[in-house]
Amino acid sequence: MTRLLLVGPPGAGKGTQAGVLSEKLAIPHISTGELFRAHINDQTDLGRSVKQFLDSGQLVPDEVTNQLVIERLGEPDTDGGFLLDGFPRNIGQADVLGKYLAEVDRQLDAVVQLEVDEEVVVSRLLSRGRADDNEEVIRRRQSVYRSETAPLLEYYRDILVKVDGVGEVGVITDRVLNALRDRT
Ligand code: ADP
Repeated sequence: MTRLLLVGPPGAGKGTQAGVLSEKLAIPHISTGELFRAHINDQTDLGRSVKQFLDSGQLVPDEVTNQLVIERLGEPDTDGGFLLDGFPRNIGQADVLGKYLAEVDRQLDAVVQLEVDEEVVVSRLLSRGRADDNEEVIRRRQSVYRSETAPLLEYYRDILVKVDGVGEVGVITDRVLNALRDRT
């Protein structure tokens, strides 16, 4: 049970849970948002080309995102598994991921959905204060999630594991680990 995706609306706590889970499961945490922010911070060409999308809460174009993730998955630390956070974010990206994994003879074990109501996530994000956390951009990210990303829940229905994402960090981590254990 080591090749995992974490899905949920912006503000659901994916990054926090992914950090803890990747340590507990001893697999790398791969966050597209973090990879993009690192490029922006380092002022790379890729960083310059994606900044406008992050600032406005839109998805970075698929070609850019897919290439970045596929390259990352080619690194040897993913041999024992990985936890993808924030990718795929639409059906096109999911198709690309599925093709890549089939080529290298791998398969996803589970897709963990962190369930949190929209009012809860918006108020969490407003208090977080990251550069793209102003109300207008937050609303945009939520609407992109609903239209582009939520269809993945159906796409992955056979391996979907739903977890209540409201509560203390450690309690939610235990819920995820228990839910993954119950599946096997
Ligand atoms: P959040 O979950 O709060 O939206 P992330 O760090 O996951 O935060 O993503 C921040 C931004 O990075 C997104 O709003 C989007 O612009 C970009 N991004 C992250 N992952 C993807 C992806 N898979 N495809 C396209 N854009 C992405």
